[in-house]
Parts: sequence; C-alpha cells; structure tokens
Amino acid sequence: VRSELFFPDLPGLLTLRCDLHTHTVFSDGNVWPTVRVEEAWRDGLDAIAISDHIEYLPHKTDVSTNRNRPYEIARPRAEALGVLLIRAAEITREEPPGHWNALFLTNCEALNVPDYHDALRIAHEQGAFIFWNHPGWKQPDGKSVWYKEQEEVLQKGWLHGLEIVNGPAYDPTVHQWCVDKGLTPMGNSDVHDPIAFDYGNSPADRRPITLVFAREQSVAGIREALFEGRTAVVCTNGVFGQERFLQPLFEGSVQILNPETTLRGKATYLVQVRNRGAVDLDLELAEQPDGVSAAGRVWVPSGKVVLLAIRGVSEELSGEREVTLPYRVRNFLVTPGQPLRADLRLRIQFLPVVK
Ligand SMILES: [Zn+2]
Ligand SMILES: [Zn+2]
Repeated sequence: VRSELFFPDLPGLLTLRCDLHTHTVFSDGNVWPTVRVEEAWRDGLDAIAISDHIEYLPHKTDVSTNRNRPYEIARPRAEALGVLLIRAAEITREEPPGHWNALFLTNCEALNVPDYHDALRIAHEQGAFIFWNHPGWKQPDGKSVWYKEQEEVLQKGWLHGLEIVNGPAYDPTVHQWCVDKGLTPMGNSDVHDPIAFDYGNSPADRRPITLVFAREQSVAGIREALFEGRTAVVCTNGVFGQERFLQPLFEGSVQILNPETTLRGKATYLVQVRNRGAVDLDLELAEQPDGVSAAGRVWVPSGKVVLLAIRGVSEELSGEREVTLPYRVRNFLVTPGQPLRADLRLRIQFLPVVK
C-alpha cells in the first residue's frame, strides 16, 4: 500500500517528493538497497538517493565493497515501481569538513581517494550536485559552524546545497545560510534502519522530505531543479523555503468551500476551510480584518475541513465587498522566524440591522 502524499504542483512545475540521503548495508545501514526503494514507494515519494558512505564500510567482511552496487541492485525495483533513483554517495570526514552528499554520480568508486578535496573535485567533474550534510552534527552544543573548509569548497563552486533538516531536526542557522549564500535547502532522513523504525505516516511523525519543483518527472528534471535552487523542505509539520514556492504550495492546498455569504449586523458566519495538503496548517491572524472579526488562531489538519468563525463588527454596514482575512502560517517559514503571509478571501454582502 502506498500512502498518497498530496503537495500541489506549482504553476509550470511538478512537485516531486524526495529523500536524497539514505543508507544501506553497503555502508553502515541495516537494509538491502531494494528495501529503500520499496519504502519510498510506500511512503508516497517520487525519488530517492541511496548515498552510502564512501569511506566507512562496517559490513565489508560480509558485503561487497563495490560502491556502485547499491544503485545497480536497487535500480530494477525502482523502475518497476516508478520511483526515480539517483546514484549518490556520502563523502565522509571528521568535522570540519564533515560529510558531503554527491548526487547524480556516474561512478561512485572514483570518489574513494585519500584527500576530500580530490573526492569533491571528482564528484564535481562527474556533474554532481553536492550538499553539506547535517552541519550541526558532533559540534559543540550541536551548533552549526561555517568553517573555512566550507568557504573554500563554496568558493571552488563545488557546494550547491545544505541540509537544513537531517532526520527529525530543523536547523535555523543552516536555513539562514541558504538564504544568505543562495544555496539550495535540503531535508532528508539519513535513515540507516528500516524506515518504520524511525518514522510513521502521520504529518507529525513522517520522514523529512525535500520537495523538488521540477520541469519534468525525471532524474534530469530533479538535477536541473536542485541546481536552480527550486526546493522546499518538509519536516513533520514544518515547511521551509522561499516565499515563491511556499505561497503556491499554500494556495494549492487550501480551499474555502463557502466563500460567499450575507452577514447582517453582528451575526456570526462559519467559514469552511479545507486543507487538501499533506501537512497541517497553523494559522494566526496577522491583524484584524475590515468589517468582521475573525478567529485569532486556527489549526487546519491535513485532509480535513475546519470551521473558522467570523463575526460582523457593525450594525450599520451595508453593501457587498471583498473581505481579506490576513493570516500568517506559523509552520511555513520563508526564513527562520518569518512565517508565510497568506490571505483568505471572502465575498460578503453586508446587511444593516433594521430597527
Ligand atoms: Zn553523515
Ligand atoms: Zn548519512
């Protein structure tokens, strides 16, 4: 059974659900490569990368050390299920410089070299999209530090993205780096065990996802979108990314089922707000709207319709007008601490109270 995970497509772009950092028994993971593909299909994903460590092979006495095998083994199952599979690897050093994922490799074996600069250069020469994994990992107090090693790799043009989410954790410092340095935000599970050991299927406990906004549903389409920075990251109920992506994601998920009404005096009207999207929405009124008062805080669960109460504020108001309910989506962050602004629009015929 595949769980459907609804995120709307954007104008001219397909929204692809991806987990671009996973492990198998070919490094320090505990599942066979085909299992990763099947898990991805069941979880409603469109694409995964199997990114085993190049240098850390704890099962090497029992499992082949050919670093291209995880991709080769998983590929027939991926083709059978329609899951896009990306050949990848994790270049693994102590922090700094830390761990780096290289996607769209043509030969993972070539990255097995002593110097990490050489490994990154070879990945770059293979056309790889490279991102720095879990920057806060093993750092003092878990705080991410931008080391001179990162700056050097960035200056060489080899660094294209950062994991703002790794596993269940969102890192606002890294999100801000993406904004400031123009790097692509990534959010991945980095799963080692069977996925169901770590995650469930509800919005609150689902694996993290990188939403990739691609021109076509293909590995090449994902690659182009990643290099162009067209992603958003979903972690439990949080969605992180640029306003140009989060706005249409919100608009395509939310529908007002009864946007037109008459309202006499200070009567109450129940607006039905439907959330078709895969994440819950946490709405907070940014300021009081004109002509009506509205609920200050509204939680709209995934797949549900909720009643949002509005009330007239005047007994004299008359005539038809557009009323905008100016909400902030507290769990959609366009930068750390800055929620998406989202307006709900109604058309109201105001009727005065007849005395
Ligand atoms: Zn790692
Ligand atoms: Zn990893």
